[in-house]
Amino acid sequence: MSAEFERDGTAWISASTGTRWVPVIGLEVHAQLATQSKLFCACEVRFGAPPNTLTCPICTGQPGTLPVLNATAVELAVRVALAVGAEVAAESKFDRKNYFYCDIPKNFQISQFDRPYCTGGGIQLPSGRFVRLTRIHIEEDAGKAIHDRGDETLVDLNRAGVALIESVSEADMESPEEAVEYLEALKEIIRYVGAGEADMEKGQLRCDVNVSVRPQGEPWRTKVEIKNLNSFRNAREALEYEIPRQIEAYESGDETRFPRQETRLFDVRAGVTRTMRSKEGASDYRYFAEPDLPPLALSESFVERQRGLLCELPEARRRRYREELGLSEYDARVLTAVREVADWFEAAARLSGRPKETANWIANDVLGGLADPKIEATSIDELPLKPFDLAELIALVAEGTLHSTGAREVMGEMLRTGAAPRALVAERGLEQVEDEGRLEVWCREALEGREQVVADVRAGRIKALGAAVGPVMKASAGKANPRRVREILLRIIGEDE
Ligand SMILES: [Zn+2]
Repeated sequence: MSAEFERDGTAWISASTGTRWVPVIGLEVHAQLATQSKLFCACEVRFGAPPNTLTCPICTGQPGTLPVLNATAVELAVRVALAVGAEVAAESKFDRKNYFYCDIPKNFQISQFDRPYCTGGGIQLPSGRFVRLTRIHIEEDAGKAIHDRGDETLVDLNRAGVALIESVSEADMESPEEAVEYLEALKEIIRYVGAGEADMEKGQLRCDVNVSVRPQGEPWRTKVEIKNLNSFRNAREALEYEIPRQIEAYESGDETRFPRQETRLFDVRAGVTRTMRSKEGASDYRYFAEPDLPPLALSESFVERQRGLLCELPEARRRRYREELGLSEYDARVLTAVREVADWFEAAARLSGRPKETANWIANDVLGGLADPKIEATSIDELPLKPFDLAELIALVAEGTLHSTGAREVMGEMLRTGAAPRALVAERGLEQVEDEGRLEVWCREALEGREQVVADVRAGRIKALGAAVGPVMKASAGKANPRRVREILLRIIGEDE
């Protein structure tokens, strides 16, 4: 890119013309549903299995076979629809999308064309924009064609027929950052409702971007599709390349360079998008109703049952954590990023009655324990430490039995072994010394020869007390309660006045 742009909000201001260009972005996201078997056959769905071992006559398109719809796929798809506030259709239908390619042995894909199972709804982005959804439909995945073997193309049909939902957004986004926020929010929702893992590394979430640019306030121009972006970073980088490319083309005045309706691919290594083919219209696919499947009828009671299975969604939780529990936006984000962590936090906060302390312990120590290779746990639920134990630890600190350094030590042991905090405190002799007599002896010793501290405190410079608290803590091997120590020191200093 030769031209320079200054960005102001969502506008890209051209250095040469001063024009304020605004991108128009819509996303189509394919997400794999967490079903055990494929959408229309009983083949197992498993990532990383040897090629072509998870296939059968149905998903390889043998003549005479018939598809049978996977009920779980429909349940999961409906949960996503409800979570984004979409309207679930009482009746929808499946269609054949016809095309010829080596990864689709049937020469058609079963999808939903003019009557998808849900329409409308939308997603609130953290930065404030509300992105409307046009529709979501259910469809089967294609196989995988592997082209990097010299002259050969290899085909793996393990993925052929796997259940997907495709979410189509309105072109409501205006920046690469908003596109990434949308992807993150959608991924979070899919995971929260248990509809899928949405792991981009495993190809469980893939997105196509539609993007055009226009001078601010002017009508939309021709959009270009960038296909098969398989990470949030690729999506952002593809847009960061494509937006200035389109602007430069328009500003060149050379009509042959103007964006045309086409499909482009993002070359990850070169960081550029390249023409793949001119974009097909719907008519190129010769859609027609799938004759082997009846219409999909969803009763109200079925839909309501799925609604009953929804949990509170991440955005709503964050709001509640901020407004009702007084947590910071940052803490709320850390706790809600994974649903199991949020659930764990809520259990511990309910037991401890101290949400802020609970949040701090989780953010600083518990999640760190998850990352520790010596602790074998891949999710918070697998940790030896349970919410009840954290609540107990917080109570020990709050009641003054345990000071914060001792609490850290106890936490480390709890994370490794799951031992109960009270037992650990007793076993290691970590209780704070509350014995007034002992504390007073240490305090008097600490004040000996510290006339300046006494004088300073008497003169109202209470800060000077710290110089006497230190020696007491040392004498008690860290077991004195610093708050009590300060009280006793002040009493002694006051006595002799
Ligand atoms: Zn199969």
